[in-house]
Amino acid sequence: MRRTVFETDHELFRESVKEFIERTLLPLDEDIRSERMLRREVWLEAGKQGFLGMQVPEEYGGQGAGDFRFNAVIGEELARVAAAYNSIVAIHTDICAPYLLELATEDARRRWLPGFCTGELVTAIGMTEPGGGSDLAALTTTAVRDGDAWVINGSKTFITNGGHADLIIVAAKTDPAKGAKGITLFGVEADMPGFSRGTRLDKVGQPEADTSELFFENVRVPGSHVIGELNRGFIHMMERLPQERLSCAIANVAHARGVLEETIEYVKERKAFGQPIGAFQHNKFLVAELITKLDVAQAFVDQCLAAHVTGDLDSVDASKAKWWTSDVQNQVIDGCVQLFGGYGYMREYRVARAWMDARVTRIWAGSNEIMKEIIGRSAGL
Ligand SMILES: Cc1cc2nc3c(=O)[nH]c(=O)nc-3n(C[C@H](O)[C@H](O)[C@H](O)COP(=O)(O)OP(=O)(O)OC[C@H]3O[C@@H](n4cnc5c(N)ncnc54)[C@H](O)[C@@H]3O)c2cc1C
Repeated sequence: MRRTVFETDHELFRESVKEFIERTLLPLDEDIRSERMLRREVWLEAGKQGFLGMQVPEEYGGQGAGDFRFNAVIGEELARVAAAYNSIVAIHTDICAPYLLELATEDARRRWLPGFCTGELVTAIGMTEPGGGSDLAALTTTAVRDGDAWVINGSKTFITNGGHADLIIVAAKTDPAKGAKGITLFGVEADMPGFSRGTRLDKVGQPEADTSELFFENVRVPGSHVIGELNRGFIHMMERLPQERLSCAIANVAHARGVLEETIEYVKERKAFGQPIGAFQHNKFLVAELITKLDVAQAFVDQCLAAHVTGDLDSVDASKAKWWTSDVQNQVIDGCVQLFGGYGYMREYRVARAWMDARVTRIWAGSNEIMKEIIGRSAGL
């Protein structure tokens, strides 16, 4: 189905993203997988191309595009290659950026945003803790005021980019008795005394992304590093989750589409019983189902993207997009594995890696159960 959400400028921009991927990312693909982290040279090149600061105003070193469709183009092209490439970059550009742009103090914006755009300052966000991620109001990391500064203690886990980020947005309790109403966000710089990282976690998929534990032991951060209003951190996070979930949905569909296109080529070539395996009616119907599932999911995601551009995407629709596309992505890629037969189970094949990469999308960014909780609540239940 022809997509109408993008305009000529976005499609021209897409060509430059593809060129960047071909020239800078793909030659390092295997190295990045074994090193389990995106090399800084890739970040810096992405910064040079202007891909990191699309939403950042020019006065802070960004492109000032103010149109999330450019972020969507980057996300789609990265996810088509490997889901983790999108995860790594989107945490920075789609998830951390709005906190810094909309909520950080002017001093902090001037300090962080230029490096954010060049790739010299990589960001991460620490909400999840070892004790739980779904119930954010129950987090236990604390920040206690000491003069003009705050002293942070606690730990975070499963943090994407945590192993190499230079700035981490950290959610901490500033008024523990008040639950969700006692959370504040802080910008912790990685060289602050008392901050340390655990080993990079050994995940089932997305090996290109570093996912780490973070520890805060009497980390002293200046008052200018408070992001947003005191004790309104929970609201700030909730308000920014629709963009995060839309970003996930865009990548989920693009990732599955890349794998499906490769699979369609494979079933045309691979022969069994003297004919291409794609010619068997069962397989033809399976491919037809997978194409349809993706096209239908794409239509809803594009509608959400258009709504987000005009400021009309709400948390409920973003939740629908997130859970639906992550389910569809997993169904599609599982179907592709089946069509690849034994090769589909070999790590050497992208389809096998994609299958492992996709599993997490039903868990993170608010699990699919939490998405359904939000949607169910909107129905008055
Ligand atoms: C690879 C990876 C990268 C990640 N990156 C980040 C990151 O950068 N920053 C960050 O802060 N976090 C990150 N996360 C954490 C992720 O967001 C959490 O794992 C997720 O929110 C779920 O939290 P949990 O793991 O603590 O599971 P739990 O909250 O313990 O949930 C366990 C199960 O219980 C279900 N459940 C919980 N509550 C309910 C309910 N009310 N109703 C029904 N079912 C429920 C959940 O859906 C889930 O199936 C990442 C996780 C992974 C795996």
